[in-house]
Amino acid sequence: MSSVPVAVVTGSNKGIGLAIVRALCREFQGDVFLTARDPGRGQQAVAQLQQEGLKAFFHQLDIDDLQSIRALRDFLKEKYGGLDVLVNNAGIAFKVQDTTPFAIQAEVTLKTNFFGTRNVCTELLPLVKPYGRVVNVSSMVSSRALQSCSPELQQKFRSDTITEEELVQLMAKFVEDAKQGVHSREGWPNTAYGVSKIGVTVLSRIQARLLSQQRAGQHILLNACCPGWVRTDMAGPKATKSPEEGAETPVYLALLPSDAAAPHGQFVSDKTVQPW
Ligand code: NAP
Repeated sequence: MSSVPVAVVTGSNKGIGLAIVRALCREFQGDVFLTARDPGRGQQAVAQLQQEGLKAFFHQLDIDDLQSIRALRDFLKEKYGGLDVLVNNAGIAFKVQDTTPFAIQAEVTLKTNFFGTRNVCTELLPLVKPYGRVVNVSSMVSSRALQSCSPELQQKFRSDTITEEELVQLMAKFVEDAKQGVHSREGWPNTAYGVSKIGVTVLSRIQARLLSQQRAGQHILLNACCPGWVRTDMAGPKATKSPEEGAETPVYLALLPSDAAAPHGQFVSDKTVQPW
């Protein structure tokens, strides 16, 4: 078993994820895994980094596929005895002009952005070693979507006692309400992406709380963040930040020094804790 520290970035064959891997290859003292659901696209990205003189390792990971997540978990357990840095970056968004029915957008978006990310956390968080760093890439859109929720939903999503099971039930209810065409009446905003990222931010708050309770003294720090508005296939060429600039806050959180006690359980943008 290798004693070398190890970092994993989900959805990192392109966009912000690839820029996070690039920065970690330079700054993280250990092995960095670029992961992708498509091995061809993943290997191509590794080759691109190699041409830049950077060494990333590749492992397949489709966060929609529990078998794929568990294969990565078993590999990390066997080869490294755990995990030091996890960046949950993989995500999807329908384009604004996409005419796919809202109910389908809700189901598909929540499946990857919330349920897929949660499954990765369920399988990989137990492997995170003392002083580990976990970063869940959310979005400022989650804050805006929260403000458009009914007062009852806002109160639940801001609660310091909401459980992971309650959050999962709420996310499933949103998909069901969208299918029944009653999501607005039930207090949800008109954005599947926004609700999925509310899920990611609230999940991060819950997981950080659990780490503090159940693994106190292990110095693990877990946060959600917004990378900013970044020029990628998702956001398009008009966005204000380059992928490298978008990677700055996730990388800052992934490399918080070992004597840091904060931020933890926060939503961070431009390296600054944001109100939730
Ligand atoms: P992107 O260029 O579209 O890249 C998304 C990455 O996620 C791709 O590598 C994609 O792989 C991967 N992915 C999608 N579904 C996956 C799955 N089921 N399993 C594994 N990987 C999967 O988007 P981006 O702009 O870099 O976004 C990265 C993260 O930042 C997302 O979570 C996004 O919501 C968030 N974000 C972006 C912005 C922005 O302005 N760009 C703003 C706020 C937050 P494929 O190549 O196989 O599709």
